[in-house]
Amino acid sequence: MSEPLITRVAPSPTGDPHVGTGYMALFNYCLARTTGGRFILRIEDTDQTRYQEDSERQIMESIRWLGLPYDEGPDVGGPNGPYRQSERTDIYRAHMQTLLDNGNAYRCFCSAERLEEMRHAQRARKMPPGYDGLCRGLLPEAIEAKLAEGVPYVGRLRVPKDRTVTFVDELRGKVEIAGKEIDDQVLMKSDGFPTYHLANVVDDHLMEVNEVVRAEEWITSTPKHVLLYEAFGWKAPRFRHMPLLRNQDKSKISKRKNPTSLLWYRDHGYLPEALVNFLGLMGYTGPDDNEIFDLPQMLADFDTKRMSTSGPVFDIEKLGWLNGEYIRALSEDDLADRILEHYAHRARIGAEPDAARDGPLQRWIFEQGGFGNDQVRAFVRETVPLIQTRIKTLDEYGPLTRCYFIDELGPLDPEELVPKKRDLDATKAALVAARERVEALMIFDTPSIEAALREVGEAIEWKPRELFQAVRVAVTGSAVSPPLFESMALIGRERTLERLAAAGN
Ligand code: GLU
Repeated sequence: MSEPLITRVAPSPTGDPHVGTGYMALFNYCLARTTGGRFILRIEDTDQTRYQEDSERQIMESIRWLGLPYDEGPDVGGPNGPYRQSERTDIYRAHMQTLLDNGNAYRCFCSAERLEEMRHAQRARKMPPGYDGLCRGLLPEAIEAKLAEGVPYVGRLRVPKDRTVTFVDELRGKVEIAGKEIDDQVLMKSDGFPTYHLANVVDDHLMEVNEVVRAEEWITSTPKHVLLYEAFGWKAPRFRHMPLLRNQDKSKISKRKNPTSLLWYRDHGYLPEALVNFLGLMGYTGPDDNEIFDLPQMLADFDTKRMSTSGPVFDIEKLGWLNGEYIRALSEDDLADRILEHYAHRARIGAEPDAARDGPLQRWIFEQGGFGNDQVRAFVRETVPLIQTRIKTLDEYGPLTRCYFIDELGPLDPEELVPKKRDLDATKAALVAARERVEALMIFDTPSIEAALREVGEAIEWKPRELFQAVRVAVTGSAVSPPLFESMALIGRERTLERLAAAGN
């Protein structure tokens, strides 16, 4: 058993909450929970130019939606706050001063133009980019003079160029890099705001983080961080860099090839527990290679030895499959509630309901008096057994159940209505016959409807399959629908007869 791990996820509020943030939150959460530690949410909003309003709230909402509550964070507080970097600038300034005082950082007065020229020359000579060290050796008098003149400056890390920096990555083992390959990183910008590196290290230390779990793209920053811990005289945390999520073509996951926003998955009817399972699969193998494990199960047998480093492909088809599995595993009552919550959520966020996804259902709910109405819940609950195995996302519920929530089906597609070896006239006649027989039913329930239609089929010498197809399209509007007889019973005698009449006319 490891010591209690204090972990954090540290997203920057620069846009929609990213699936990568969910992925990192999950593993940080598991490590903290399974060791009796603490899980922190820190908002890294020092880059004011990329700041997006709303992003922070959405990040917090999405992490909660995933079911990964944090113990400390901007909206829940904690002993080592504030948890928003923009509220900690004084702390970073004081720490910058410490490094200037102890010689591990220096002031750099180079102008933007000079740095641009330097980069240009480096490119021309095919040299690696990096600061050339001009201000590293400035004498105290020169510094004083520049300060007196008011020349703007940044604070840079004084990287020891003559030694090697070493750290152990919990997933990859020992990493070594020569000091001369590490840039004299800017730690504090001329506007007095810290860069990611300074703020991140100071916060991880002050927030008592003892294991940093983040995406592999940050691994090149870690040597700088290790030097910073040394410069402050602090013990460095452990580091664990997780493999990046990838598109199908193995490139880093990107919006152009995959929806990357957690909000998108929520708005499209993915269950949080399925998404969590899927994100878990991206960096973890369950015991027995079982691919279906929910969060409680993952926590129950969590073992860092089964965390992996191979490039996980974010395959949305697979997520769809997994989501379908989770939908099937819900109780019928639970599924009814999830469906209603989903459409209520869509109604809340969407000004204009999307016709195919929400259309008739939303209108019907509105006409019944809204989501809170008991009859709405009761009716949706009745539809659940008919659709539970037929949807992969909650979003598919609306289009699949359109026939229950609409009065007029609209024009039917004759290609679908008319069975292959029949013509339109014969089909209409068959529908008239079906209507007459169904109208005569004393009891309008599933077995009676089925028996009646089979009788009609025999009488007109059609195969059951042929008649059912025509009736299905006439009554549900589509050749693909939930089970026919149950659907007719649910649609009710009156509307069923109207639809058969309309199609047979
Ligand atoms: N703010 C960084 C991000 O957006 C944090 C990286 C880290 O975890 O150190 O991912």
